[in-house]
Amino acid sequence: MRAIVVHPPKPGAELSDVPAPPVGPGEVGVQVLECGVCGTDHDIVGGKYGRPPAGSPYLILGHENLGRVRSVGPGVIGFAPGDLVVATVRRGCGRCRFCRTNRSDFCETGLFTERGIGGAHGYMAEEYVDVPEYLIRIPPLLASVAVLLEPLSVVEKAIFQGQRVLDRKEPTPGEPKTATPSALVAGTGAIGMLAAFVLTVRGYRVMAIDRHGEETPAASLLRGIGATHANTAAGLGALEGARFDLVIEATGSVALDFTLIDRLNPNGVLVLTGIPDGGGPALPVAGGSLLRDVVLGNQAIVGSVNANRTYFESGLRDLTVFAERWPGATERMISARRPVEEFGEVLSGHVGGSIKTVLTLAPGGAASPAG
Ligand SMILES: [Zn+2]
Ligand SMILES: [Zn+2]
Repeated sequence: MRAIVVHPPKPGAELSDVPAPPVGPGEVGVQVLECGVCGTDHDIVGGKYGRPPAGSPYLILGHENLGRVRSVGPGVIGFAPGDLVVATVRRGCGRCRFCRTNRSDFCETGLFTERGIGGAHGYMAEEYVDVPEYLIRIPPLLASVAVLLEPLSVVEKAIFQGQRVLDRKEPTPGEPKTATPSALVAGTGAIGMLAAFVLTVRGYRVMAIDRHGEETPAASLLRGIGATHANTAAGLGALEGARFDLVIEATGSVALDFTLIDRLNPNGVLVLTGIPDGGGPALPVAGGSLLRDVVLGNQAIVGSVNANRTYFESGLRDLTVFAERWPGATERMISARRPVEEFGEVLSGHVGGSIKTVLTLAPGGAASPAG
């Protein structure tokens, strides 16, 4: 079968012929329809990280996925050929209490693998095989947006974690809330945009920031869902001192991360999802006043990574809510669908103003006919 393979830490990617995986007892064989491309893929292709499975000279790239069940092995219950599915990414270490209960996003040993990233083949191939435990069945009505479910699962977890912290200050049960909670989303890539959508659905007044003006597809989409957009290319002064209960960071910019702490309301929480470059230059930080304000304001800074199955399931519910509330809006996050043959251009650079580029592995991608 054809697959996009990488040889980390060597930069670059190629479309190669590799053996198709056999479907064994208890396993499901899935035809890949399409894969989203994100910063993680760019980093792996750039040689920053990535690790082939043990014993394999290459790694099949790709973790944001949508496919259609092609065959089921003996003993599989609950899946049938033709079903649309999205697979989760992380596979547990099998040793810690979290991985043993399918919550490998909280793995304590770090010995997990991640399909398409580290230690396990990904989904930019004609076919993959997995067990039902890691497959989420997708209603056909959501086929056109389901490739966003994996990044959405990351957002669902991040917002849930932030909400858990905010809930410390809930009023006495029965006492009505007096103010609409406010949220700031830093970054308007797919993670930031999906966060703006989820937070709006959850009842937050949402502002999203990036380094662009009002003419981008992201800014227009934000207006469409009733969120506010601000261009902070010249700094957070554009926010005119506004503060927020919940800040979701989706840029990986360390310098920005520290300034976001200043944007928190008392009792507020900053959730970091962007992965900073660990080898970046050291930053001068006024640590004393920064941490003093965190303590005196009961504030919290929380990191959140990956997602387990429950967040894919809540993401599926939210995709349904988005479709009802803002018909066609989620589709507009998919800036382009490109055939897999164009992988070189898609993986080598980010297209300015695009939110999510998708590679189609089967002709027609999500719209391809069953069978
Ligand atoms: Zn991704
Ligand atoms: Zn573990």
